[in-house]
Amino acid sequence: MTQTHVPVIAIHGGAGTISAATTSAEQAQAYHDALKAIVAAAQAMLLKGASALDAACLAVEMLEDCPLFNAGHGAVFTHDETHELDAAVMDGTTLAAGAVAGVCHIRRPVRAARAVLEDGAHVLLAGAGAEVFARERGLEMVEPSFFSTEARRQQLYRVRDTGRVVVDHEGASMAAASPLDEDKKFGTVGAVAFDMHGHLAAATSTGGMTNKRVGRIGDSPLIGAGTYADDRTAAVSCTGSGEMFIRVAAAYDVCARMAYGGATLEAATHAVVQKSLPAIGGSGGLIAVDRHGNLSLAFNSEGMYRGHARGNDAPITAIFA
Ligand code: ASP
Repeated sequence: MTQTHVPVIAIHGGAGTISAATTSAEQAQAYHDALKAIVAAAQAMLLKGASALDAACLAVEMLEDCPLFNAGHGAVFTHDETHELDAAVMDGTTLAAGAVAGVCHIRRPVRAARAVLEDGAHVLLAGAGAEVFARERGLEMVEPSFFSTEARRQQLYRVRDTGRVVVDHEGASMAAASPLDEDKKFGTVGAVAFDMHGHLAAATSTGGMTNKRVGRIGDSPLIGAGTYADDRTAAVSCTGSGEMFIRVAAAYDVCARMAYGGATLEAATHAVVQKSLPAIGGSGGLIAVDRHGNLSLAFNSEGMYRGHARGNDAPITAIFA
């Protein structure tokens, strides 16, 4: 008989700055409710014996579909007023990984990433080729306008003239309902899971950053940067200023510190999020679970939408520190 473990799921809906607009208790509650429902769905799956990979993918799919988070519908605009979505998944047991980058017709990019993983021939497919692949796999395709919202368009207009990609200005908040300032929030979603069989998986999906140059690819779909999972150490999903996460190989660095230096999960995530990233101006955070089921939800921004559950325990959600 194989040993069973207490399963763990954690999700994030992006990190960022506290909204200047006052958020009412009801408005914040909407975020907590959405995070809770998604954690609960993945938790129920894990308790039935589902794999970490299935649970992480389900959670990210639900986050992509949720209008409060902006990985799918409501994704940010590029400088040219288009959308380019990125996603990745990784299975900690086999180190199998799949990712898509720069796609704009695939309704649920995380499903396409999963299909790339299952196909096994490649790890990362970009642009038109990724979309042909998704179509061949029978995934749901949409017009790029499916992802557009007026609020995101206005956000681009406010930012475009400043020439900034990492949004950093005092634009009026587009959505007074958001606890984190939509103009200063990283819009990625992600999940990490530890299943009853002791396996780990991570998944991440994003619209990238507002006003990014067409063709820019962030950390999310890059295995080792925004997403990584290895049963010997941990599963990690990041959110933040992607260029810096790429430069410090953030997700892999958490695992490497554990593997080579014997760091605990907490020490490894602290070193990456509070030291390596800030040293080069990187802001954001990550969620991680290790091979013993320990959790770390770390960020150096003012807040990060997040939620988690262990075993049968009620899901816990949080936005601010
Ligand atoms: N890390 C993402 C990127 O750079 C942005 C985010 O986290 O929202 O594309």
